[in-house]
Order: sequence, then C-alpha cells, then structure tokens
Amino acid sequence: MGFTDELSVVTGREEIAAAVSRLAAEISADYHDKHPLLLGVLKGSFIFLADLVRQLDFPLEVEFISLSSYGKGQQTSGKVKVGHRPQTAIKERHVLIVEDIVDSGITTSFLLDYLRRQSPASLKLCSLADKPSRRQVQINIDYLGFAVPDKFIVGYGLDYDEKFRNLPAMHALKGDK
Ligand code: 5GP
Ligand code: MG
Repeated sequence: MGFTDELSVVTGREEIAAAVSRLAAEISADYHDKHPLLLGVLKGSFIFLADLVRQLDFPLEVEFISLSSYGKGQQTSGKVKVGHRPQTAIKERHVLIVEDIVDSGITTSFLLDYLRRQSPASLKLCSLADKPSRRQVQINIDYLGFAVPDKFIVGYGLDYDEKFRNLPAMHALKGDK
C-alpha cells in the first residue's frame, strides 16, 4: 500500500498557493510599515508560514510558540499547555499569529488571552484553514485562507500521529466520515 492510499485531497496545491498569495497581499497592505512579529504555532503552521513570509516584501520577524491541546488522537483534550515560548518580547509589538487550522477554537482563544496579557501593540490572527462547524469558542479570524469540511485534515504541515506533514496538499483521512 502507498503512503497516501488512505487519504483523499481536500484542498489541492494550486488552491493552497492561491490562498497564500491572497493572504500575503492582505497582510502586506496592513503590515508593510509595522515591522510585525509573525508568530507561528508549532508544529502545524511551519509550511504555511514558510510559504507566506516568502511573499512578504517588508521587514518582519518570525517567532514560534508551541501549544499542545491534542494528544495522539483526533480529539482535543480541552486543555492547552505552552511548550516552546517566543524568544523575544511581545510587549508593544504588532503580533500576527499564524495558525494552520482553527477547529474548536479552544487553542486559539487560549493563545489570544496568553498573548494579550503581554501587552502587544496589536494582535491579529491569520489561519490557513477553518472548520467552522466545530467551533466551541467564538474566534475572529482576521486573515483566513479557506474553510474545510468537518474531517480530520493532514498534509501541508498538518499531521496524524506525526505523519503526513510533508504532503504538499491537504487531505482527509478516508476513514473519517
Ligand atoms: P482547536 O483548539 O481549535 O480545536 O484546535 C487547534 C489545533 O488542533 C490546530 O491548531 C491544529 O494544530 C489541531 N487541529 C485541529 N483540527 C485539525 C485537523 O483536522 N487536522 C490536524 N492535523 N490538526 C488539527
Ligand atoms: Mg495548530
């Protein structure tokens, strides 16, 4: 059996590339003179962030934070823990969170609260994908790539049990309804 036999494409490479370009244009218009801090949420956002920043033609900084809400399965535990912390001060910076996907919203709302307490000059959220049907906490996504169906998504940085991050498109696990 091949590596991707159990997967079906949800969002193809071209569609992802078009969304990244559109987001880069929106972010450029708003941040070109703000020297923003782009905060990638590990590990899922690493490919999105890498593609996005290469289309931003102005000074910016990149930091990472790691949050864990998922164990090894597909369901959120509801508890969020901070692992890796940004290595530079958030205070008075224009911070743009770069997320892979917003699902229940629990992780993102925790992150927004966590960062707000550090007094950034501004705080906004960019997410490549959104699963609105699963929301438990209301979240405003300032820059959104696209919505995806209520399925477990892998590829383009997203994993299942640490597998499939390296796929260039976004796929659903076939067994997932
Ligand atoms: P939430 O707290 O919004 O339920 O989920 C936040 C995090 O869970 C996302 O940033 C992502 O890392 C992970 N997650 C949510 N949905 C999916 C999914 O469909 N596939 C994968 N691989 N991770 C997901
Ligand atoms: Mg994430």
